[in-house]
Amino acid sequence: MNYQKIIEKLHHDVNTIPDEGVVASYIPALKKVDSTKFGVSLCTITNECFGEGNFEEKFSIQSISKVFGLTLALKLIGTKLWNRVDVEPSGDPFNSLVQLEFEKGIPRNPLINSGALVVCDVLISELENPKKELLQFVQKLANNKNINYNLEVMQSETKHGFKNAAHVNLMKSFNNINNNVDEVLDLYYHMCSLEMTCLELSNAFLIFANGGKLLHNNEQIITARISKRINATILTCGLYDEAGEFAFRVGLPGKSGVGGGIVAIHPNNYVITVWSPKLNAKGNSFKGMNFLEKFTTETASSIF
Ligand code: GLN
Repeated sequence: MNYQKIIEKLHHDVNTIPDEGVVASYIPALKKVDSTKFGVSLCTITNECFGEGNFEEKFSIQSISKVFGLTLALKLIGTKLWNRVDVEPSGDPFNSLVQLEFEKGIPRNPLINSGALVVCDVLISELENPKKELLQFVQKLANNKNINYNLEVMQSETKHGFKNAAHVNLMKSFNNINNNVDEVLDLYYHMCSLEMTCLELSNAFLIFANGGKLLHNNEQIITARISKRINATILTCGLYDEAGEFAFRVGLPGKSGVGGGIVAIHPNNYVITVWSPKLNAKGNSFKGMNFLEKFTTETASSIF
């Protein structure tokens, strides 16, 4: 399979489709991005990487980081996490509060905001220096020390994060948050502000295509069983109320963020990351969805 050639062709094709998306503006710092950016990178478990467009430029990975937090929390406390967070798709937007009260402060899944906030609460309870150790964990997965939080984005979101504050407070009222509310929000906003390139994300996500093992040194970061379950959660919950549409059109586990990134995993094969900042009505990259649909069609590599 000539991945480089296919990626270049589809990048070109998708660039000719009028972009119907809109850049996220509810976090003011995200508005500053050049909305014409469009990058794609694919890495295989045979250790080859390909890319096209702005695939080596850093962008705000936002909710894609929820997968890193989840992985670290599962590594630390294992299945105990599932007493506090469920694994059902929500069918609601990523920041919806509606189900949370009916379901007594137990988030539907770890990939919506409420679930990721519980994950952050776990990290605070388990780690001595959660911000530093989470960052080091991501750097380790990507085999790259040049990954950081963007403090401007973090502060911008802190200033406007009323809804996330509502989530943590509501969960605390149901005894599903053990630490200080502001501390939980602070870790969550740091996590969302992580900046990475498409190439770095594809590398960092390779453990989920490789049975939980790092490619470059064979270190088993999580068991194959946890890796399989994270992929299942990503498939059913990674694109919020568009997870069904993504499985239908793309056919891979995929995780999106409001920075316009989408990472998709083909277990035992490859990871592909697309970045284009303009989002569709469900908060997922317009071009990213289009590109990935064309990519799995052209390469006949949906998991179904
Ligand atoms: N930081 C964003 C928020 O909490 C993440 C949302 C997303 O990427 N879907 O609203």
